[in-house]
Amino acid sequence: PPRTPYVGRFAPSPTGPLHIGSLVAAMASYLDAKARHGRWLVRVEDLDRDRNVAGVDQHILASLLRCGMQWDGEVTWQTRRTALYEAALERLGDAIYPCACSRKEIQDSQLRQGQGGGSALVYPGTCRGGLAPGKAARALRLRTPLEPHCVICFEDRWHGRVCQDLTAEVGDYVVRRADGFWAYQLAVVVDDGAQGVTDIVRGADLLDSTPRQIYLQRLLGLPLPAYLHVPVVVNADGEKLSKQTGAQAFDDGAPAASLLRSALLPAARFLGLDPRADSIDEFWRQAVPAWARMLAARGAMRGAARDETPA
Ligand code: GLU
Repeated sequence: PPRTPYVGRFAPSPTGPLHIGSLVAAMASYLDAKARHGRWLVRVEDLDRDRNVAGVDQHILASLLRCGMQWDGEVTWQTRRTALYEAALERLGDAIYPCACSRKEIQDSQLRQGQGGGSALVYPGTCRGGLAPGKAARALRLRTPLEPHCVICFEDRWHGRVCQDLTAEVGDYVVRRADGFWAYQLAVVVDDGAQGVTDIVRGADLLDSTPRQIYLQRLLGLPLPAYLHVPVVVNADGEKLSKQTGAQAFDDGAPAASLLRSALLPAARFLGLDPRADSIDEFWRQAVPAWARMLAARGAMRGAARDETPA
């Protein structure tokens, strides 16, 4: 049967200029789209207005172009798409409820239940049955099934099968935040669905968000995209590179040759590719088939490992 035409995307948050870590995510999604002769969209995820830095979206777009990554169609900005999130919320209906709990209250309740210490905050369901008298609604949460537990599994093209027990590990999660901003989990699902994204390629820091997104897709009747989570670049302390951990922007307007040497080649090597180009055009000519070969080899390795596992 003919496969649906490939649609991929890169979805940067405009909190700082591209650094090697975000370039790796952009590059992986671009390479995958090109290797599959698909479309590659760019969507600016600017819903968290407190973290946006003015002008950074344009800086990111300019850097992508300077690196030779031209997107298809128009760039979209999430802050211009809030009617879609509103409509999705409507559709979710009774699965949504208002929550009055502060972060502190959730933490305290976890401690009382003896689940302290863990880094993830599992929502204890305090407001499931309605707000306590005198409490004001803050965030909106999505009800996840209690019994049986809601376990979501998917096949990641890099990591293989990944499962998460949403009930035990996440609990009812936020779709609109206490500050009124739409939550990433909801917006990303609605946009990927509305934009017809078939393949999501992004950093492995989002691996444990994927089950939450798949659960929302199911409730909204959206098709399941394919996923590929590439490793994230970390600093000397093992932290994911980000503006908070002091990542350096690589595009300071230096000439293309230096962009190739200081950004594109290192990012490609991080992804396990070894193009030896001396121009950006030549770089992409080599990197696209190299990416396809690398994925095929990884897939074959995973297949072999599976076949050796006794049933
Ligand atoms: N906007 C998210 C970020 O910058 C990425 C979202 C995604 O790829 O799903 O980390």
